Formats: sequence, C-alpha cells, structure tokens
Amino acid sequence: MESTSTDWERIYAFPALSRTDSECWERCSSYCCNPRRVTQNFCFFPRKGSELLILPGELEYLRRVQGMQQGCEESLRELRVPISSARTISVYRVTCTLEGRCSAREFRPLICRMYPLFPIVAPDGRVTGLAPFSLFDALFSMLKVDSPCVLCQVSLIEVDNFLSLCAELFKDPVNVFLVMAAHQYKTHMIDRLITHYPELSKEPESTFFSKWEKLFLTGKLTDQSALLRELASIADRIEVTFGAGSLGPLPEPRIDSTHSPGTCE
Ligand code: SF4
Ligand code: SF4
Repeated sequence: MESTSTDWERIYAFPALSRTDSECWERCSSYCCNPRRVTQNFCFFPRKGSELLILPGELEYLRRVQGMQQGCEESLRELRVPISSARTISVYRVTCTLEGRCSAREFRPLICRMYPLFPIVAPDGRVTGLAPFSLFDALFSMLKVDSPCVLCQVSLIEVDNFLSLCAELFKDPVNVFLVMAAHQYKTHMIDRLITHYPELSKEPESTFFSKWEKLFLTGKLTDQSALLRELASIADRIEVTFGAGSLGPLPEPRIDSTHSPGTCE
C-alpha cells in the first residue's frame, strides 16, 4: 500500500461530533474540557483543564492557520512514542485551560472534534470498532458508571461523518500507529488494573480515582518492556501493509566492529 501524508484541511472540514449547535456542554459543565468529576479526587495531577494530544502534521497545520488555542503553545511538550528500540514518532501534548470556551472554535484540535468516539483501527487503516475516547471514560465503563458526556448517543449521520473522517485520517500510517498505540496503552493499563488490583473496582468512585492516581504515578499500571514489545508488534504489522520504513527511516544496520571487513581474527 502506498504511504501518504495527512490532508489536514480535509480533516478539519469534517463536522466535529461536539457541535456548536448542540450546546451539549450546558448539560455536563464541559466535562471533556475539564473532567473535574475525576480530577477532584486527585492529589498530584492538575485539577484544572484538559491534556490534549496533537498529531505531528496537525501541529504544523494549526500553526500555519494560526489555529492554536490560547495558552496551548506555551504548554506544548514533545512526547516520543517508541516504535522499536531504535525509532520513535513524536506527538505533542498541550494543556487547554479554556474549559469549553475555545479561543478558535473552528480549529479545536482533532482529539476534541472526535470525542466521545475513539476509533479502533486495524494495521491497514480500516476502522473495526468504536470505543470510549478517554482513559477516564474507559474506567467509567469498567466501573459500570455512566460517563458525564451526553453525546454518547450519536445519530447515524454523525457516525457516517465520523467514519469518513477516519478513512481520510488513516490513509497515513503514522496516524494509524499513534491511534493503535493509544488504544493499546489504555487496554494494557486496564488489563493490569483488573489482574493486579481486582479489589479496586469495588471501591466508590472517589476512592477509586484517588488510588488509581497513585498507582498510575508510581508506574504500577504499566509493564514498560511488555508495552514496548506490543508497540513494536503494532509497528511491524502496519509496515507489512504500508511498506517497510513507512513509519519513518529504518535504523542503520549495525556494523559489529569485532567482525568488520579486514579485522584479523
Ligand atoms: S463531555 Fe460530551 S456532552 Fe459534554 S461538552 Fe464534551 S462532548 Fe459535549
Ligand atoms: S480546545 Fe476547546 S474543546 Fe478542546 S479542550 Fe480546549 S476548550 Fe475544550
């Protein structure tokens, strides 16, 4: 399959699920922009605002059209997601503290436009299912508690638009990798929570999130080497479809100096 980069203008032309006309935030106090119901239980994580991930080409697009939300440029951090021990893909993390009052509404980031649906994508870019978008929503679902988001029931036309947006987005193997990696990370953490701390899901919501924060911050919810193997396996499967090196340059082959040509043995 031929590798392609993302047409961000086309992606941003699709209607967002959280639309201006639905005024959904009036019924949930802008939960997706400020998940206070969860963060009020935290001691260490910030209690205000929302952490957003911006995809690599998306950052350049938003800068070019001057669409970065107020305050986001100042909080920008680069995250390097490992594809293997020798390769990484960068995504960007920003903190939005606008609490639903986007400073450039038509340019709110893709992550805000797709919420509350998270596409489950196959290595060839096909969407095979839908899941709760955020880790907190996945945890609500695990606790069998309704998410505060009232948009979880969307119309057929909205699902159709969403799938068209995904078809455009997943022409680019880098986007396929990052979305599959995000899903794997969530699944990995939830599986570990269930297998290592089965009693936790019986706690009331407030103590559950307070204990969850401590486990998360002390790294107990991830097995780093297992996660790296899972990400490498995803990358391999994507490059089988899109072509070797489609996720970025392959590492130079290592020359073992003890066996290099001309070395006397
Ligand atoms: S949480 Fe859901 S209902 Fe609330 S503002 Fe966000 S998209 Fe709308
Ligand atoms: S950009 Fe807008 S929709 Fe996205 S988190 Fe910020 S205020 Fe909410």
